[in-house]
Amino acid sequence: MKKIDILSYSHDVAVYEVYRKWEFISYFFTDYFYNDLKRPGAWANMMRERFGEKQKIVLNVCNFQKWADGVTLLTLSDVETMFHEFGHATHEMLSKSEHSDLSGFHVEWDFIELPSQLLENWCRDKVWMDRFARHYKTGEKVPDHMHEKMKKLDSFWNGQMILTQNTYAMMDMKLHSEGVPVSESQLDELVIHNYTKNSLLPMWDIYSPHTTFTHIFDGGYAAGYYSYMWAEIIEKEVWKAFKDSGDIFSKEVSQKFLDDILSAGTTKKASELFRDFFWRDVQIDAFLVEKGLIN
Ligand SMILES: [Zn+2]
Repeated sequence: MKKIDILSYSHDVAVYEVYRKWEFISYFFTDYFYNDLKRPGAWANMMRERFGEKQKIVLNVCNFQKWADGVTLLTLSDVETMFHEFGHATHEMLSKSEHSDLSGFHVEWDFIELPSQLLENWCRDKVWMDRFARHYKTGEKVPDHMHEKMKKLDSFWNGQMILTQNTYAMMDMKLHSEGVPVSESQLDELVIHNYTKNSLLPMWDIYSPHTTFTHIFDGGYAAGYYSYMWAEIIEKEVWKAFKDSGDIFSKEVSQKFLDDILSAGTTKKASELFRDFFWRDVQIDAFLVEKGLIN
């Protein structure tokens, strides 16, 4: 990537020309810091359609807080956000498709979060952390005992978290596939029955997630809430392929991921793209191992 100068609404906006094998492929804008004109959160956008489909332009926008003394320190969660949005950016920048509607952010819902969630794995890996995460005064690397702590925290309460996500996904599916309940009590009954069927812990007195769960009504995830965990299952398989190669920067695995999945867009069904990459259907084991639930 090559940084270029532009006139912009903020000094914090940076623009890069992105090249692949010396060939220009996209512009990439980063706007990482909070300002009061922005909406909250972090996101990736693409603007190819605004330029007659000819020019790829991808944006990553975040709301990182600048420190008053001019030094900006990111939390691990901030770094994950940055990697996550860059993963979305690569899906568009490296797409082979000539049409934005068939690439990047418009692939099957099942794997739209695959490149973004996949990149988050590198943030917590010691090999990569040793390269970028340093004490801002002493230059010291993150000590081993902190890596150990992070590992333990990563698997804390995971069984329950997966059950909770599964309960939400099942509720979403039922509400959108089993006909509209004819009364409030029938709706409550459906939700409570779903909870008791899919949970280990007893239900608390007031259980009404369906009254606040905006994701599945106006948040674009109607009958698609499952895709959060499904994308995680797939990306843990890809991450395992990197780890099994013995090199989390393996050029061979990266190239295969690029050719078989990342650049392919909608040229094939998602399940076929995964079969091209894994030589089999997606399995759940890598996900369960990463979550600390099986060895
Ligand atoms: Zn995302």
